[in-house]
Amino acid sequence: MKITDVEAIILRQPVLDDGIADGSQDDLVIRVHTDEGIVGIGEVDSSPEMVKAAVYAPHSHTTASGLRELLIGEDPLDVERLWSKMYRGAIYYARRGAGIHAIGGVDIALWDIRGKFLGKPVSQLLGAPVRERVKAYASTLMPETPYEVEACVSKWLAAGFKAVKLGWGPLGQDPARDVELVRVARRAAGDEVDLLIDFGLGYGADVDAALRVAGELEQLGIFCLEEPFYPDELSAYARLADSCTTRVSSGEELSTRFEFQDLIEQGHVDIIQPDVSRCGGLTEAVRIAEMAAARGVPVMPHAWKSSILKAATVHLLAVAPQGLLMEYAVASTRINSRLCLPSFPLDDGYVKVPTDPGLGVELDWDVVTELRIDN
Ligand code: MG
Repeated sequence: MKITDVEAIILRQPVLDDGIADGSQDDLVIRVHTDEGIVGIGEVDSSPEMVKAAVYAPHSHTTASGLRELLIGEDPLDVERLWSKMYRGAIYYARRGAGIHAIGGVDIALWDIRGKFLGKPVSQLLGAPVRERVKAYASTLMPETPYEVEACVSKWLAAGFKAVKLGWGPLGQDPARDVELVRVARRAAGDEVDLLIDFGLGYGADVDAALRVAGELEQLGIFCLEEPFYPDELSAYARLADSCTTRVSSGEELSTRFEFQDLIEQGHVDIIQPDVSRCGGLTEAVRIAEMAAARGVPVMPHAWKSSILKAATVHLLAVAPQGLLMEYAVASTRINSRLCLPSFPLDDGYVKVPTDPGLGVELDWDVVTELRIDN
């Protein structure tokens, strides 16, 4: 089997009534075609236009090729070697940032092809599955007022979730307000629900402010405090993680096992959160999870896109010995909720690992046709 084409398709919803611009309104979908008719799909959560450029760029240098040129004519089943070929062939621009995001999207599509060809779900090819279902948390924005926080938490519990994450929005601007909003969320959730709080970089590098807030929240049994600081502020992460009893998590902006090793060894975080589409794809995510497990650090991937990324994330968690919760983006945009079939229904707060060959999801071509902006 040979790769005949690599497509990067940009989807974007028109301006929405509620002004959503959190990344759930656009997407970059990868399709890898083969001469046997099997098509693999991937997805990237990044700037769609930047990632598309990395796919289609013409050859410039042996260390600065576009990914499409590197892959055409190759055997798509040779996924790990192709990862290395892309990394080596684009190393000037793709060790980090949009270039490695593009490698990640293509890598997800290659795993989909491998699974479809072999008739096995991706999780069975990534390693030895350790779980058949994964507990999911509803992932949504922190509302502005206590009243809205209460309504929001109640809504997602009523939808069947047993874990909820409230992220960014007003968080990180006023420590007293942060504490008030989180207290309301905890009261609304009750003691049995896992409550995650994502500061969305809100404290920058202000360790003292973050320490005050973390201290106030310590008695509330928060599952983890996510991303209080910018991703490069490793010493700030270390100071907070070393001095608060609540787990500190981070990593959605990071790529490759090298950055996650630094985050663990220098940032001392308690949980790492690689995004499969940004960290280098499933090939690299498995390496990251193994590296973290060897250091006793659990993995809880970031995932804020359609069911392509949800599927890739669930397959990763199926084989990650120290895998925690699955992030389940609940944005109402068509890309998040309707781009793929089938969807991931909740069963008692859990999502089942797909058992169909490949990722186990397919594009709804009507939605692609409706939202693509480059045809
Ligand atoms: Mg986050």
